[in-house]
Amino acid sequence: MRQVAWRDFYHQVLAARPATSVADYRPRRDRWRRDDEAFAAWRDGRTGYPIVDAGMRQLAAEGWMHNRARLIVGSFLTKTLYLDWRLGAQHFLDLLVDGDVVNNQMNWQWVARHAPLVDLTEATERFRAARGH
Ligand SMILES: Cc1cc2nc3c(=O)[nH]c(=O)nc-3n(C[C@H](O)[C@H](O)[C@H](O)COP(=O)(O)OP(=O)(O)OC[C@H]3O[C@@H](n4cnc5c(N)ncnc54)[C@H](O)[C@@H]3O)c2cc1C
Repeated sequence: MRQVAWRDFYHQVLAARPATSVADYRPRRDRWRRDDEAFAAWRDGRTGYPIVDAGMRQLAAEGWMHNRARLIVGSFLTKTLYLDWRLGAQHFLDLLVDGDVVNNQMNWQWVARHAPLVDLTEATERFRAARGH
């Protein structure tokens, strides 16, 4: 259920702020690196990190990747290589069989820590309290 809630939430955010499909939801003045070779290694599954490379090779071969792998490769691109999330988002959209502008761009922003942050723990507690659990 929680996953489906994310999908709906992201659709509402993008409907309200369409520019977020390309612009940072929460600008942090990132000064992304430019490194074509590092990006190519990530894209082609040649980083040397088996779990990252496995995910990227699966994407290339099947057009799909498990959610956890998407989080890992996205984090690697934006946090480890410090490359712009938009590069990864475009590559995903080019190859994913379930490629979807809302889910893709907003998840990439989440991975790059630009997305709106929602405290699901707190929301769950409030829900439980309202139901008397
Ligand atoms: C960097 C990145 C890019 C992504 N790009 C896309 C994309 O282009 N298209 C896409 O449909 N999903 C995308 N996702 C979300 C998620 O990875 C897929 O929806 C999920 O892999 C689908 O697997 P499932 O059907 O087993 O999901 P389940 O876990 O069974 O969830 C049920 C349904 O909820 C929705 N859902 C699940 N996780 C998410 C999520 N994090 N955000 C929004 N909706 C979700 C999906 O419609 C999914 O079918 C992306 C996630 C990340 C981290």
